[in-house]
Amino acid sequence: MARAIGLLILLAAGVALALFLRDLGGAIEMTVGSTFVAVPLWLALLALVIAFAVVHLLLVGWRSLRNWPARIRARRAERHRRDGDAAVTRALVALAAGTSDQARLEIRRARKLLGDTPQTLLLTAEAERAAGRNDAANEAYKALAAREDGKFLGLRGLLRDAMERQDWPVAQRLAREAEAAQPGATWVREERAALALRTRDWREALALSPPTVTGTTRASLALAAAAQEPDAEKAAELEKQALSADPGFAPAALAQAHRLEAMGSPRRAKTVLQTAWAAAPHPDLAEAYMAGEKDSLARVKAAEALTHANRTHPESRLVLARTALAANLTGRARAELEALLASGGADRRAYLAMVDMEAVELGDSAAGRAAEAKWLRAAAEAPPEPRWRCYACATDHAAWAPVCEHCGTAGRINWTGTPASAGGTLTAS
Ligand SMILES: [Zn+2]
Repeated sequence: MARAIGLLILLAAGVALALFLRDLGGAIEMTVGSTFVAVPLWLALLALVIAFAVVHLLLVGWRSLRNWPARIRARRAERHRRDGDAAVTRALVALAAGTSDQARLEIRRARKLLGDTPQTLLLTAEAERAAGRNDAANEAYKALAAREDGKFLGLRGLLRDAMERQDWPVAQRLAREAEAAQPGATWVREERAALALRTRDWREALALSPPTVTGTTRASLALAAAAQEPDAEKAAELEKQALSADPGFAPAALAQAHRLEAMGSPRRAKTVLQTAWAAAPHPDLAEAYMAGEKDSLARVKAAEALTHANRTHPESRLVLARTALAANLTGRARAELEALLASGGADRRAYLAMVDMEAVELGDSAAGRAAEAKWLRAAAEAPPEPRWRCYACATDHAAWAPVCEHCGTAGRINWTGTPASAGGTLTAS
């Protein structure tokens, strides 16, 4: 409107100027050869204005003609982008709704319109994966991983697939690449920790375990790592780490004692066993402690030395009673066993030791047989002896192991004689 008014004013001014010039009179005179031309001034000025307008229009028209293909291209690109974005949205909706075939169709359309962008490649991979076409999904992930801006996304997809296929060497390589592409990413750290557990790379599992993993679980990982460690010094350090995580963890104490013994330090080995016994008595510790003693009286002395820190513990009383019985010190053996039964902490082994003691004291007599039968009945009803048990699936194991072969859980095989420490959880999935 304002523009129209402006134009009107300009036109009126032009007409007024033309009228004024006509009234003013005057002419432009030209002589070409012998021809003489005289044009009124107002007409000459009008011709000049018209010529200027025509040249201007021609120039504008030419420029517009020249930019025509570029404009068409830009319009087409804009339309493609709009349609492509709409197809991406529809693909996302189809993926969320679980209609993977529809998602594949939409994402193919989007890819045709938008080309290979990180978004279209990722969606292609996800849609193919959802449709169960893992090879096609991996192709898209590979294309994504080859790009600088989509590298991590591509590696993440490939790693997930390798873990599902249980292709551990490939998964480990991809995890390293992902770590390099996105250092410190929490997801990569968790995947690497799970991978370490799956591949039983205990050193890596220990290094990547979260701080919530403590107690026996951490001790198990450290001891398992020590067993894999070829460098003796590093292995010894890992064993120490296991014992500091759980000072009563018998397998770690035994490993450290064996190492010290092999290094020619039997006294230090014994001290390690004594310290572990004071923290949590375990029959294997007693066996290792008395392994060198052949004489039965020497074994009694050794048992006393081992148990002096907690000699009223049921396990201490049992080992004292058994060594005393083996040395024919039946009075002492009886005193220990009766104290053990009175304490309420006796298990089947204490009753079986009573059977042995009655056999030694009363021999093959009617009284002896009656006493043996009495203790055997009591043994049958007594709580079972402690054992290694997986606290994840409650399977019993003959010996400690870093991982339960029954359920595949790592670091959860604990000695039932000691209260189970929670110690955090490790997941390998
Ligand atoms: Zn288990």
